[in-house]
Amino acid sequence: MNIAIVGAGLLGRLIALSLHRQGDQITLFDKDDKSARQSAAYAAAGLLTPLGEAMSCEPNIVEMGFESLRLWPKLLANLQETPFFQQTGAIMLSHEQDKGDYLRFTRYLNNHYPQHQVHALNRQQLKQLEPEIARSFHHGLYLPQEGQIDNRRLLVALRLQIENTDINWLSECCVDGIESLPDSTSESTRKATGAGGQLRYQFINEQNQTGKTHRQSFDLIIDCRGNGANPKNAHQNAAPLKDLRAVRGELFQLFAPEVNISRPVRLMHPRYQLYIAPKSKGVYVVGATEIESGDNSPMTVRSAMELLSAAYSVHPGFAEANIRQHISQCRPAFSDNQPKIMVKQQLVQVNGLYRHGFLIAPVVVEQINQLVARFKKSGASFTNISCDQQQFNYSSWLPITYKNTYKNAYKNAAEPHPLKKNTTHEN
Ligand SMILES: Cc1cc2nc3c(=O)[nH]c(=O)nc-3n(C[C@H](O)[C@H](O)[C@H](O)COP(=O)(O)OP(=O)(O)OC[C@H]3O[C@@H](n4cnc5c(N)ncnc54)[C@H](O)[C@@H]3O)c2cc1C
Repeated sequence: MNIAIVGAGLLGRLIALSLHRQGDQITLFDKDDKSARQSAAYAAAGLLTPLGEAMSCEPNIVEMGFESLRLWPKLLANLQETPFFQQTGAIMLSHEQDKGDYLRFTRYLNNHYPQHQVHALNRQQLKQLEPEIARSFHHGLYLPQEGQIDNRRLLVALRLQIENTDINWLSECCVDGIESLPDSTSESTRKATGAGGQLRYQFINEQNQTGKTHRQSFDLIIDCRGNGANPKNAHQNAAPLKDLRAVRGELFQLFAPEVNISRPVRLMHPRYQLYIAPKSKGVYVVGATEIESGDNSPMTVRSAMELLSAAYSVHPGFAEANIRQHISQCRPAFSDNQPKIMVKQQLVQVNGLYRHGFLIAPVVVEQINQLVARFKKSGASFTNISCDQQQFNYSSWLPITYKNTYKNAYKNAAEPHPLKKNTTHEN
């Protein structure tokens, strides 16, 4: 099957490789060069901490996070270059004066996630896990199943892997038109035109010189544009997602050779939440702010002061750190902060991964694989997929919205997964 993937950030790269492995012919588009510096994936901290996120997300994200932690090693084993990945747990901390939030968080985890491990640590136990942190803290919470990944090395490893295949990667190529054929199009017309959907795109270089526009048809289009599908950024003919918004995040990359912290640490604070993610030799990511804004301009003084003073309060060694980078980037999010997969004719849009892209990506990729497999089995159409076929292994983890399809079939649909009634059908 001839599939276009628009956006070569986190999801686009993962999905391209996965579908290519299943024998599909893939064309991957991105307006950026292959470094992906403009993507949310490049800016991220790479935390894989489902329980750490539990209070600010719904249970399906937490469970997708745990399932993804199980899938990540298998997924990485397929890459020739393996980025840093560890699952040695994370630590939650609070200063004595802010203990209220910490206690509330502990109660919340115990009440809502009794099936997952949570260990309360006294100073002595904290000292055994993270000796340098125990100097300033009397207590902590150890979440042994949490993990982290080097997001930038992952993007590089995926790039190298893709370059070793015959995936056609059109970089610095902006897609500004996405069109899928109406459901009523007969199979014979679709076969005759060889098309399920059409993309209109321009190479950035040509755009400046000749303004030349290209058009190409595909059996299926998978849109992974992240913030690029926000109506403020997307052309009106390029399937903008009305409900998508940007949530600004700022973080620092620090070089602090005097600091020895081996696993992600979160500081519970009444005004802001800080995390410190150790990267390679002496490098730490300190973040991240969360601001309702699509502004990508450099970090504000206020954010810098808050993040750095909080980091210093966790470990005084950060006072001598070098600031390597300060980063501002936006997370793509829907109004309910739930990621979504939307299917309309021959277009699949997957977006709104918000602050959980790395946390849940492997499960999302599985969902897309299974969706595409059903699409192929039903003769390159989502309209023919019967209702019970919608209920596949991962179908109830992430909301899947089918637009203009299943009008009648839905009446007989089985109850969605009890974890979350999240399979919706719009007509
Ligand atoms: C500061 C910050 C910290 C974060 N920390 C974490 C974390 O610790 N853990 C975690 O799990 N998640 C984290 N995230 C969230 C995570 O980065 C995102 O959820 C994830 O990157 C979304 O993946 P995506 O593929 O949908 O979008 P992106 O990774 O943003 O990729 C979208 C791609 O589409 C391309 N594109 C856009 N428009 C077009 C167009 N018109 N034509 C062609 N190409 C286009 C872009 O160039 C880009 O490469 C963080 C995000 C931020 C901003």
